[in-house]
Amino acid sequence: MQLKDSFNRTIDYIRIGVTDRCNLRCFYCMPKEGIPYEPKADLLSYEEIIRLLDVLGNLGFKKVRFTGGEPFLRKDFITLLEKTHQLSHYKEIRITTNGTLMTQHIPKLKELGIDTINLSLDTLDAERFKEITRRDDFSKVINAFHTLLDEGFTLKINAVVMNGINTEDILPLVALAEEHPVSIRFIEEMPFNGGYKENDTKFNATDIFDTIKNKYASLSAKTGKHGDTATNYTIDGFKGEVGIIAAFSRTFCNTCNRLRITPKGDIKTCLYDGGTFSIRDFIRSGVTDEQIANKFIELIKLKPENGFVAEKGIEKSLVRGESMSTIGG
Ligand code: SAM
Ligand code: SF4
Repeated sequence: MQLKDSFNRTIDYIRIGVTDRCNLRCFYCMPKEGIPYEPKADLLSYEEIIRLLDVLGNLGFKKVRFTGGEPFLRKDFITLLEKTHQLSHYKEIRITTNGTLMTQHIPKLKELGIDTINLSLDTLDAERFKEITRRDDFSKVINAFHTLLDEGFTLKINAVVMNGINTEDILPLVALAEEHPVSIRFIEEMPFNGGYKENDTKFNATDIFDTIKNKYASLSAKTGKHGDTATNYTIDGFKGEVGIIAAFSRTFCNTCNRLRITPKGDIKTCLYDGGTFSIRDFIRSGVTDEQIANKFIELIKLKPENGFVAEKGIEKSLVRGESMSTIGG
């Protein structure tokens, strides 16, 4: 079975924010202090997440990503991974993590066949890492980077590019892909930081491309795959590759294949919409799996054509007030 939205896009990828809590405070994501956390009882339980994943799997979903907040902060996260693995719908179980709490779980991830990790790392400079994340955990992330590579994981690095903050880190990060078989993905900064600062979008995907192309003339685009948000590039002589994600310019919406569930169970059919429906309240009202499936089908039909249309539908202030940690980035 394949679920299509109103624009004939096949929707088969679910991203779930498993917690709104985080041990870092990246300044593009959260304010220094605050963002009051949701009471734990208001977050989806792992049993509820598994039920939703089972329904979605029966609707043809094949890929799931767990994110947050920091997913490895959640106490029952490994149980959630085990149960997801047992469902057998999902060919790809993926995790986005800041890498500070995960190395002890690497054997379990391997056992469950979770072989691809997205690790967030915006700089190779320990001091700048501290400024960006407001925590002194650079060595833990670098340790995770090397351990994951040594253990044979497919590794993607997510680096948010911030105008005037870490633009000079672009080339050192690119150089990592010369030595290592990793994909270094540069992400445009989006306005989801908890509302405490304006988004600075002056350094965009084109600027990132130009910065890399000026140094590496052989930078060449690869053909995209279903649902890719990154435009991926090869560079002659490199073991790895480079990706650019126009997350703010939103140039990839026409091939979007995803649906999101926030930690407190709001369905987002687009990153830029305001949270369309509380699936948590719906399942807690005692509905059947068939009713849940029909609700997903109905919501997917409401998926907006692109992120600009989605953003128009809600108060701008609401978009700016959200944090990636509460959306599930
Ligand atoms: N804590 C985990 C981590 O940092 O990888 C997972 C959650 S985090 C919200 C998921 C991804 O969203 C990270 O790669 C992070 O860099 C990215 N992100 C957070 N805020 C962002 C923003 N305002 N613009 C662009 N990307 C952002
Ligand atoms: Fe935490 Fe990830 Fe947000 Fe950084 S980007 S504050 S690590 S949730």
